[in-house]
Amino acid sequence: MPDTEDKPIQNFIETIIEKDIADNKNGGRVHTRFPPEPNGYLHIGHAKSICLNFGLALKYNGLCNLRFDDTNPAKEDVEYVESIINDVRWLGFDWENRLYFASDYFRQFYEYAIQLIKDGNAYVCSLSTDEIREYRGTLTEPGIPSPYRNRSVEENLDLFERMKAGEFEEGTHLLRAKIDMASPNLNMRDPAIYRIKKAAHHRTGDTWCIYPMYDFAHGFEDSIERITHSICTLEFEDHRPLYDWFLDKLGVFHPQQIEFGRLNLTYTVMSKRKLLRLVEEGYVSGWDDPRMPTIAGLRRRGYTPESIRKFCEIIGVTKSFSISEISLLEYCLREDLNLRAQRVMAVLHPLKVTITNYPEGTVEMLDAVNNPEDESAGTRKIPFSRVIYIEQEDFMENPPKQFFRLSPGKEVRLKHAYYITCQQVIKDDDGNVIELLCTYDPQTRGGWSTDGRNVKGTSHWVSAAHAVDAEIRLYHHLFTVPNPEEAPEGKDFTANINPHSLEVLAGCKVEPSLVEAANGTVYQFLRQGYFSKDPDSTSDKLVFNRAVSLRDTWQKVKKNV
Ligand code: ATP
Ligand code: MG
Repeated sequence: MPDTEDKPIQNFIETIIEKDIADNKNGGRVHTRFPPEPNGYLHIGHAKSICLNFGLALKYNGLCNLRFDDTNPAKEDVEYVESIINDVRWLGFDWENRLYFASDYFRQFYEYAIQLIKDGNAYVCSLSTDEIREYRGTLTEPGIPSPYRNRSVEENLDLFERMKAGEFEEGTHLLRAKIDMASPNLNMRDPAIYRIKKAAHHRTGDTWCIYPMYDFAHGFEDSIERITHSICTLEFEDHRPLYDWFLDKLGVFHPQQIEFGRLNLTYTVMSKRKLLRLVEEGYVSGWDDPRMPTIAGLRRRGYTPESIRKFCEIIGVTKSFSISEISLLEYCLREDLNLRAQRVMAVLHPLKVTITNYPEGTVEMLDAVNNPEDESAGTRKIPFSRVIYIEQEDFMENPPKQFFRLSPGKEVRLKHAYYITCQQVIKDDDGNVIELLCTYDPQTRGGWSTDGRNVKGTSHWVSAAHAVDAEIRLYHHLFTVPNPEEAPEGKDFTANINPHSLEVLAGCKVEPSLVEAANGTVYQFLRQGYFSKDPDSTSDKLVFNRAVSLRDTWQKVKKNV
């Protein structure tokens, strides 16, 4: 695997494409597509495919289509179509005017099927679903030909026409390709082409009651759009001979299929079917729950398109099975946000501090640097007053030697403000520290002393009178184990769900500048991590999601590989 600092090496698909261009195959054209099925929201695995397909088109001055593979009416929905369009655009890719739907080709698929029947390459089979499975054979035993295999062309045309006219019930007839029941590749044992399905389609309504199978339609979709390189994941390697067979029998344009290894990520699941279960069974709040590996979830959490694209670039493209570390994805986000996120102050577990020698009723507006990594981000004003909040963990009554923050008699710096010294600790009846009485040194405005005296500790803070209440949501891995698919005997992946993946902190205090920010804005809360403003925010209670903490676990992982 290329090191994160290295320039990515050419991947095997680029090698194939460059050879095709050199050979002037397809007149040197490069045309790819991203073909999602609108049966769920896109996830980070799809992002890999999107970056690959659109990225190749950009690199080789080609085109990339966005095509909905909507051949299965049962599970598809316009909500999914809209979310997918939104997500691909958000990731930063442009299909220009090339947005296509496989359902627009239904008439063409039907005509291809008729042609196969006429050429003796397809037949209507009237076995039941169970019988078809029995006749299919196994990996070690050849299949048995269907008794309907030798129906005449006329009979097949008639039955297929009547299937289309809605005369038969679902499951009574099936159009099958006539290939080879003894083939060692099970996909070639007379696979289904068309089935009866009396379901309304999200785009074609009730026009059709027969629908093409994915394996029949997919290669033709690419062919119709004159796709030069049909890039798909490894599971489809065994299907390639079938796609080739269909294209060759009909003598139509023949794209080249190339398979690559799909993205898997530790501590999460990736298939839409499983993600749908998480949503439907209430393990998460929806497809855009910030714990989900969906694009919508990552966006809500605070991920940027740049960080996702960078991640896809680093993991690269290979032909082998692999599992990527979720800490690498987090690393990419941290690197990106470090450059662009504005620094602000938020107190997650507030402790009241009264500065006894600071005049009552006075408010000073102090200057704060927005981003030390980016001078152009400028500065802002933050209010300072007599009563502030600091982080509970920034005070210790009996500190160990290495503790440089506040403790009785000790002096610390308040970021952007003053040095303060703790004079007195106030406790409740149970002995809990509820307030500190401190004094400040007016000579240290801005957080710097004029006499060369230095302090080791710096604390973040907010002015009590100005701070805004916030709920802060901390997220942990959705699953307790790196590979959730490995479930105990008799259980499935849901057995590995982390019951503590969401931790809600109420009563947090954030600086007032955050009220105006648009939902989705991501900040660095000093010393706490990166946080995005959640759409659940209201005018009197802000909600933030922790996108990622400041601590880098990827560098540690990398050292061990
Ligand atoms: P899932 O298994 O999650 O349901 P899918 O493959 O059925 O995914 P599609 O909508 O058919 O989902 O996928 C659209 C494209 O995205 C396909 O070309 C597919 O190969 C690719 N893709 C899906 N999952 C991944 C993944 N984990 N890594 C890389 N590419 C993927
Ligand atoms: Mg699929």
